[in-house]
Amino acid sequence: MQPDWKNILLQQGFLELTKTLENKAIDVVSWKVNDNTKVSLLASGILLVEPFDTSGVCDLVISSGVHGNETAPIEIVDRLVAKILTQDLVVRNRVLLIIGNPVAMNLSQRFDIENMNRLFNGHHVGKNHHEAIRAAQLENMVSDFFVAGTATERRHYDLHTAIRGSKYSKFAVYPFPDGRDWSKPQLEFFLASGINTVLLGHQPSGTFSYFSSHRFNAHAFTVELGKVKPFGENNPEDFALIEDNLAKLISDEAVNSKPFDNSDFNLFAVKQELVKHSEEFSLNIADDLENFSDFKRGFQLSNDGEHSYIVEQDGEAIVFPNAKIPIGQRAGLIVEKTDI
Ligand SMILES: [Zn+2]
Repeated sequence: MQPDWKNILLQQGFLELTKTLENKAIDVVSWKVNDNTKVSLLASGILLVEPFDTSGVCDLVISSGVHGNETAPIEIVDRLVAKILTQDLVVRNRVLLIIGNPVAMNLSQRFDIENMNRLFNGHHVGKNHHEAIRAAQLENMVSDFFVAGTATERRHYDLHTAIRGSKYSKFAVYPFPDGRDWSKPQLEFFLASGINTVLLGHQPSGTFSYFSSHRFNAHAFTVELGKVKPFGENNPEDFALIEDNLAKLISDEAVNSKPFDNSDFNLFAVKQELVKHSEEFSLNIADDLENFSDFKRGFQLSNDGEHSYIVEQDGEAIVFPNAKIPIGQRAGLIVEKTDI
């Protein structure tokens, strides 16, 4: 007999249960919340919620905590689960709710052994550490979820917070669409959720959102919701718009959005990846420089011998700068504004 995980979930919530379970294997636990809703705890930090009425139009994945110290998204998922279990939220679409990396969460770290958001889309293959095993498990669970669904639309919002501040406090990273068009309705959803800055992906990657986009044609996004803080220090009001809209998707209620217009957005395209070519590599910016900070033409952004980067156009900006990486890896992205 395993402990009564259902009871712990009902009494203490999804976050506390996931802290307790960490990466312990469990038998699936399923029960009816009411005549319309079934929940199944598939594994630690992975909860499937299904309406018995199968007329839902969207199969929805909401994931958090792929980076263990990004607590605000974990709390959003925890609150959504609580509302489903207390029946404050009517479930009309299937939804898979995820806390991605319970081991790193319990360590209050971004990751333990390897950054999990580089391990998806098969990048875990050949690796045996627990974060690679977890990435494979999450891929399998998301695959089963999407394959079993009958909805006409698939969506995946992978929620994060960032290490550094950002000139635009919230932004979405739109994974490389593999030749599909950028979805304006999806950008309208973000605008209605208080997010008007979007970085358009330029190539395949190992992120969780690219996995769902690439493998399942899902509308999938990495959503950055602000700065990393410890549990208990996030203000729920900062996330109310996106949280309410995710709840509306679960309930299949209309989101209050306006028609797409480029002028409502800061859309950024990747101009160039800044790759570290030598041990001499350094960035000529402050350690706490905000994401999307921009530069004047002629500014020498990096020192890296013949690969040093000098800004070519006014307004080029940097995202995710990080000089403390191995040679050959990405030290940041040079981006510039664009329209779609
Ligand atoms: Zn993150």
